[in-house]
Amino acid sequence: MANASLYWFRHDLRLADLPGLIAASKAGQVIPVFIWDEALGGDWKMGGASQWWLHYSLQSLAADLSAAGSRLILRRGETVQVLAELLAETGAQDIFASRQYQPWAADLEQKVRDVTESSGGQFKRYPGTLLFEPENVRTGGGTPFKVFTPFWRACLKQPAPAQPQPTPTLLSPDTWPCSDELASWPLCPKQPNWAENWEALWQPGEAGASHALNTFLESHVDSYGDGRDFPAQPNTSRLSPFLKFGEISPRQVWWTAQNAKQSSPDEAGSIDKFLSEIGWREFCNHLVAQFPAMPDRAFNPKFEYFPWQTHSSHLVAWQQGNTGYPIVDAGMRELWQTGFMHNRVRMVVASFLTKHLLTHWREGEQWFWDCLLDADLASNACSWQWVGGSGADASPYFRIFNPIAQGEKFDKAGAYTRRWVPELAEMPDKYLYKPWEAPELTLRAAGVELGTTYPNPIVDHRTARESALEAYATLKNVSVA
Ligand code: FAD
Repeated sequence: MANASLYWFRHDLRLADLPGLIAASKAGQVIPVFIWDEALGGDWKMGGASQWWLHYSLQSLAADLSAAGSRLILRRGETVQVLAELLAETGAQDIFASRQYQPWAADLEQKVRDVTESSGGQFKRYPGTLLFEPENVRTGGGTPFKVFTPFWRACLKQPAPAQPQPTPTLLSPDTWPCSDELASWPLCPKQPNWAENWEALWQPGEAGASHALNTFLESHVDSYGDGRDFPAQPNTSRLSPFLKFGEISPRQVWWTAQNAKQSSPDEAGSIDKFLSEIGWREFCNHLVAQFPAMPDRAFNPKFEYFPWQTHSSHLVAWQQGNTGYPIVDAGMRELWQTGFMHNRVRMVVASFLTKHLLTHWREGEQWFWDCLLDADLASNACSWQWVGGSGADASPYFRIFNPIAQGEKFDKAGAYTRRWVPELAEMPDKYLYKPWEAPELTLRAAGVELGTTYPNPIVDHRTARESALEAYATLKNVSVA
């Protein structure tokens, strides 16, 4: 096969603004390939919700490739072996791909390089997943940043990200290798089908990503600055699963947002705030690229000595949204039922798990990993450690979210909480976040029987807060090298 190459799709499931695909298209014929390597990532292999998204994302990518006169070749197995087989089967010379930053990515890329070179070709790796490469953003002393604000300031001093590139024209090979049927891959749940309604909620794929970004910038960005903390309102972009699977590039987001700033200067503040959240995504990815133990171990080594507790009944109550704290339960049920949770509520439930229940942040990290459609190794690990107090630039451990006050402040009218905890729908606002304080008559009028229709709180807020502070105090005398 003359001048054919493999384009190895990873978490970059799009056709536009993909530097590696553009380079492959310039080199000759392109065979687009996606490999489902179930074991990749070991303990961090892809979780259930992400697998659902992957199915529909691949379906969308295959349709887009077909419309462009190309195909998506699907193979299942160990990545390096499958790529080696494909090189041999097709006679393709080179492999093109986007760089990834998970702790296992560099080793995998080296093995792919070895196997390509041993068959006389080259492995060609391109950026496309982040705005800035981790090696290029350093402190004055040449070390990685550990604090967000100077990190983002340094990013903004870099040359602006390049303008996005359009979808290239893809030349097909003379003959196509065979492909698995997507439907034969067990990516979607069957019995029980916990993702039953998700197709109505999400549109995975490149078109869905553009739609989400444009809708956000046209209709919601003006409320983002002040409104992004209110879970009942559609003020945030919900772009995270699209970004996680690379269905849109961060520089497409960057430039579309910059253009929106030009046409609506009044919204510049909100747009910059939004871009700084994209900056948090960069920060997390840069951190994990440089501190690969982050998903498994406390970034602040003192926290390896924290007296975490194990109460499996507490953990299950948290996972199932039955803690008796309505804002926590609303978030955990939103997660289970939609594969997503609003950022403010993620912080509240994470604080509740690590501080009120003194449960190790890794338990929460793992549950989110399985349940979140946007489960991203770097953002998830860094955010859990941020809330738990052990991370880079972390929220101090003694800052313990009060789940009653958080509900009253960020979901005052209770629309979000009543939606996800319908058994409290009739509770008056005054008692919505502390039903245990409601008079018996009020509870009865709202159809609530504590301990039967809705749980009693599994821990007392004040006592739990004191215990958390005591546990934290034990770290004061810990010295680590
Ligand atoms: P927007 O507010 O519209 O932000 C735009 C984009 O910026 C997001 O899509 C996301 O890519 C990025 N972003 C926003 N906030 C953060 C943040 N704090 N850290 C990193 N990136 C951010 N985000 C993930 O993408 N994957 C995860 O696995 C993940 N796990 C989290 C776990 C916990 C405990 C917490 C507190 C936060 C976690 N986040 C994670 C960050 C954040 O909650 C989500 O990115 C955000 O809620 C996605 O909604 P959005 O797209 O509407 O965000």
